[in-house]
Amino acid sequence: MYLDDELDLGRRQRILIVEDVRLNAQILLNSLQDEYDVRVAYNGIEALEMVKEEMPDLILLDIIMPEMDGYAVCQKLQSDPKTRDIPILFLTALEGDQNEAYGLELGAMDYIRKPFNLPIVQAKIRNHLELKRYKDLLKRDSRIDGLTRVPNRRRFDEAFEEERLRAKRYQTPLSVLMIDLDLFKKYNDTYGHLQGDDVLKLVAKTLYQKLQRPGDLLARWGGEEFVALLPDTDCVGAKTVGEKLRAAIEDLKIPHEASWVADYVTISVGCATSIVEKPETYEKVLHWADEAVYRAKDLGRNKVACYGD
Ligand code: GH3
Ligand code: MG
Ligand code: MG
Ligand code: MG
Repeated sequence: MYLDDELDLGRRQRILIVEDVRLNAQILLNSLQDEYDVRVAYNGIEALEMVKEEMPDLILLDIIMPEMDGYAVCQKLQSDPKTRDIPILFLTALEGDQNEAYGLELGAMDYIRKPFNLPIVQAKIRNHLELKRYKDLLKRDSRIDGLTRVPNRRRFDEAFEEERLRAKRYQTPLSVLMIDLDLFKKYNDTYGHLQGDDVLKLVAKTLYQKLQRPGDLLARWGGEEFVALLPDTDCVGAKTVGEKLRAAIEDLKIPHEASWVADYVTISVGCATSIVEKPETYEKVLHWADEAVYRAKDLGRNKVACYGD
């Protein structure tokens, strides 16, 4: 699966209505369900549970509700980085500029007073959802490589930081594979840069598809180099994955007549794994993987080498 498919930005957008008066909820539902995927929660607690199950693109939030009011729901969603970007539109019978100001201060995008005018509510929703889609696109494009459509270095850096801290905390091994296409300048010199680009795309796709564990991440490191992050993977496991990737690229049998390594495009892979007993090594795995690639090159290219072996 590609990142684009995972994010699935072409799907129908999802709205969550949070409203304790069933008649109001029904009116809103009827007016929106032709265009959007709409769900209804009848109180704040239920709303938070539904958000956890499936992230909506927009929330219509009543304020006066039993048990947990709309302000509290808004506060809760705004305090969590995972849900902070969901636009919230208050829809309330609560009068007064002070209440409106308070709602907006909490982070809501808009504040609509009851009794509401349906066409106005619909128009506001449409505007906010358009903005939401645009933001999602920007977010995706800033973390994806334009040529190969796999995650870029920026996304990798974020993931590495997160996984490094997690692995250190739980004392699990963290592995990194550095992947370099062998003699790629020669490829461009022989077949042209555009065909070289096509090879990079195919190699990226193949590597991406070969990494199957949910936490694994493949990214373009830059140029003709890729990097794979393998959480909870020891040195033996990393080597196995490295070998699987190496074989997968060889099996593509992309002709490379200027290569003296093989008749086909090949990769060299450097593996490195943190040492659980030595917390300071978690910071070093990237550097180690880079050194291991040089070893793989020295061994003749189209090889997998592990740091420390
Ligand atoms: P080795 O031969 O051991 O692999 O050494 P190396 O990695 O240092 O050099 P290599 O010739 O493999 O890679 C560098 C070349 O990769 C330079 C450039 O021609 C090519 N390259 C880098 N980025 C791109 C790109 O986006 N598109 C294409 N077509 N080629 C690229
Ligand atoms: Mg109410
Ligand atoms: Mg290189
Ligand atoms: Mg190279």
